[in-house]
Amino acid sequence: MNSERLENMVKEFKIYTDRINAIQSALNLFVWDMSVDAPKGGTASRAKYMGLLAAEAFALRVSDEMRDFLEALEAERDSLDDAVRAMTRICRRQYDAYQKVPVEEIREYSELTAKAGAVWEKAKAENDFAGFAPTLEQIVRYQIKFAEYRGYEGHRYNTLLDDYEPGMTVEKLDRFFDRLKAVIVPLLKSVQASEKKINADFLQRSVSLEKQKQISELLMEKVGYDLNRGMLRENEHPFTDNMGKNDVRITTHYHENAFLSAFYSVLHECGHALYEQNKMDAIADTILDTGVSMGIHESQSRFYENMIGRSEAFWENIYDDLIKILGADFKDLSARDFYEASNIARPSLIRIEADELTYSLHIMVRYEIEKILLSGGLDVYDLPRLWSEKMREYLGVEPDSDARGVLQDVHWSEGYFGYFPSYALGNAYAAQILHAMRKDIDFEGSVRSGRLPVIQKWLAEKIHQYGSLKTPSQLIQDVTGEELNADYYTLYLKNKFSLLYTIH
Ligand SMILES: [Zn+2]
Repeated sequence: MNSERLENMVKEFKIYTDRINAIQSALNLFVWDMSVDAPKGGTASRAKYMGLLAAEAFALRVSDEMRDFLEALEAERDSLDDAVRAMTRICRRQYDAYQKVPVEEIREYSELTAKAGAVWEKAKAENDFAGFAPTLEQIVRYQIKFAEYRGYEGHRYNTLLDDYEPGMTVEKLDRFFDRLKAVIVPLLKSVQASEKKINADFLQRSVSLEKQKQISELLMEKVGYDLNRGMLRENEHPFTDNMGKNDVRITTHYHENAFLSAFYSVLHECGHALYEQNKMDAIADTILDTGVSMGIHESQSRFYENMIGRSEAFWENIYDDLIKILGADFKDLSARDFYEASNIARPSLIRIEADELTYSLHIMVRYEIEKILLSGGLDVYDLPRLWSEKMREYLGVEPDSDARGVLQDVHWSEGYFGYFPSYALGNAYAAQILHAMRKDIDFEGSVRSGRLPVIQKWLAEKIHQYGSLKTPSQLIQDVTGEELNADYYTLYLKNKFSLLYTIH
């Protein structure tokens, strides 16, 4: 192909992928509206629009036109710049994955999941698993069908894992979780046997909504979340949504008698948001203008929530400002008290409230269950029983209700099977990234003195700016000099909790 023809083709390819990106952004905006502020009566109409839009984007991804673009551009691979090469790689993945799935089924499925959120919310509020089970059963049936259309090597679940973390498989994750389990389970036993008792009762003291909102503002300012290109709203299940790097929104949920819940959800979502906001301008509003994988995304949210937010240095930094807001009710407490209470380790029922040490055990429960569900070997109606069994096995506790058990997470209602492992991978990536960061900057010193922009700059330069330009494995290799290595995370946990609970 002569250079003028190639140049034209690249131009047309970019316009074509911009159309996909525009539809995806519209869908993201629907999701935001639906979760935050939309009237309930419009659920069915919105679901219909979303189904049609999803089918439209899908058709563009698997069209003959896309196939022709890919074949032509791949033949010219060496003449393409990094961005176009990355776009070609992403479109090729999607084309190969989905061209065998009938578009009509994608439309039906998208309509189903757009409605399922409201069904799940009601079932959770009423502690009525049977109210959600038929919808869930349909979603699982679609997931299995899609995986069959797409084809897979090894376990059927691999196709879904690969969607969220390219290259991830059951075989790799089994090994990964075995390594975590080998350290976390005995460490948790030592923590429980420790003489050291941490007081966390004061975390249940009442904090008004007004004060909690001020705390959120303080946190957003500290971490450098740009509110000119973002906003904070309230909803049931905190999340981050974005329409490219220049419109990145987050939500939180305030609980009067658990102010740390919103405190940590804001830090968590700010971690996601900074990743999205800090991408380079050159990829803005293209299909590369998004985080590369959910594992890497969760590494950024967990970095801000845990590595920074649950460190003693951060509590020392934020203490004075926080006490000013919290007022006389909390004056009897020191920064150390907050640090210890925010790290109290004990088996619990709710994943999003779990401490750093037991968190990955909650993920293992979901991973094991999804593996069985996707193999087709489980009746959806048996889920509550299996949930209790797995909770007992991994955490030694059993839910007192389905609302606080199998119904607690929003993910399955959205069809996000294969997503949960991203959280555990994110924890591990985050520890590995922290290890690399320490070689360049004084992490504790920067956090203690409030120099969080130094940390943000490092993350932006090494990770955020690339969006989807690099693959996850390439990225982690470039940042840390090696592939994902769970040892950094287990070592981080051992060091932190041995000190905290004076275990020798
Ligand atoms: Zn997250």
